[in-house]
Amino acid sequence: MSTGSGHRRLLAIGLDSAPPEFLFGRCLPEMPNMRRLVEGGVRGVLRTTDPPISIPAWAVMFTGVDPGTLGFYGFRHRLHHSYNQNYAPSSTLLPVPSLWKILSDRGRRVCVVGMPPGYPPPPVNGYYISDFLTPGGAPETTYPPALAKELEARYGPYRFDVTFRATERHQLYRDIVAMTQQHFAIAEELYTRERWDVFAIHEVGTDRLHHAFTKYFDPTHQDYQHGNPFEHVVEDYYRIVDQSIGRLLSLIDDDTIVFVGSDHGSMPMSGCFCINQWLVEKGYLSIRHPVPAGTPLEKAPVDWSRTSVWGAGGYYARLFFNIRGREPEGSLEPAQVPEVRARLLRDLAAIPGRDGQPLSVEVLDPHQVYQQVRGDPPDLMAYFGHLRWRSAGSLGHPTLYLRENDTGPDDAVHSFEGIFLVYDPKVKDGREIAAQPIVDVTPTLLELLGEPIPGHIQGRVMPGIRPVARTSS
Ligand SMILES: [Zn+2]
Repeated sequence: MSTGSGHRRLLAIGLDSAPPEFLFGRCLPEMPNMRRLVEGGVRGVLRTTDPPISIPAWAVMFTGVDPGTLGFYGFRHRLHHSYNQNYAPSSTLLPVPSLWKILSDRGRRVCVVGMPPGYPPPPVNGYYISDFLTPGGAPETTYPPALAKELEARYGPYRFDVTFRATERHQLYRDIVAMTQQHFAIAEELYTRERWDVFAIHEVGTDRLHHAFTKYFDPTHQDYQHGNPFEHVVEDYYRIVDQSIGRLLSLIDDDTIVFVGSDHGSMPMSGCFCINQWLVEKGYLSIRHPVPAGTPLEKAPVDWSRTSVWGAGGYYARLFFNIRGREPEGSLEPAQVPEVRARLLRDLAAIPGRDGQPLSVEVLDPHQVYQQVRGDPPDLMAYFGHLRWRSAGSLGHPTLYLRENDTGPDDAVHSFEGIFLVYDPKVKDGREIAAQPIVDVTPTLLELLGEPIPGHIQGRVMPGIRPVARTSS
């Protein structure tokens, strides 16, 4: 992959949540276009962020800095030190430029379809369609704004997402397919409008398929039933994704490098561990009277004067100390925090699983895992059962171990293993290389495009991404 020869372009395809076991494994026989990329490119496992959640993972993939440096710790952050005010990360909160912005600023022509964090749609030297986190009724969903109307006239209302935790499954599958086909149809049309230097598309349908159908197609899920009507839905869907990718690939020229990536993998969910209920049982969190099952913490009568620690649910548990002078009704003196923290870590480590064996709780301190800690980080981050157990923040359940998600049906959780693939039409390769960190994607793509790598980028160029030089003796 010579970077000095000619003007290289990039087509980046982001498949949210697509796990290596499916994209490079079970579904590959159904995917002739992906097979062509695999057989000609370099690929491997992409080790995702802590935590393995779409935001921050996509943001890290396409900025080259870690989640703490971005101040993105998940889908929700508490506003400063409030107890129940939250905000979602957005494109305007990015403290460093994305790959698209870096190249835009260098005069390259850029078109981005739905890549997170993409709301509000960032101004680029080209087009940007906002992402799946676009709020309903958002006034502007494209840059430039006029593009939205033009696309809607031709393709109908843009399908930002599906409601995967509420819709009946037959309808949901049709919705996911319609969304994916619409995104790729729009991408195809935009792709042919000019010779883009950089073109990127993100597809969230892959993530929705795994969340909504894993128990139907994955025999290792605890509720899998052989012979169910959705047993082959994963092959069917990935075949459709592959056809869409194939149509885009038919439009590229030999100067276009293709990147395919996923922000994390997916695996069956075992259940939810009720973190706040456990904190109540252990005396860290105090509520004034019992509450009905499923009561969110925000609606519970918390006695903050007798609360030292509380948590928030999701793929992982965010844990917060209730510190005097920091929280509105802080109860812990700052000098008490180290002792409470040490006791909490011991208690977390001793949590048994539903089967009586240790649950396996991994606790991370943002200040120890990130190069910088910006924004509103949790004090501690806890993963339960290697993330096969979600964290439920609600209270009043008859058990600490829920079989189902407390915020709507969900079959899957995220794994640390996403994928990457780089395909250069000018190079015959076909290697699988060792797992690479997600923070390395942006510097690697800049290098392949022959572009300088800005000094603030923390990732490095993936070693082994170029073909081994064949030296003649
Ligand atoms: Zn994701």
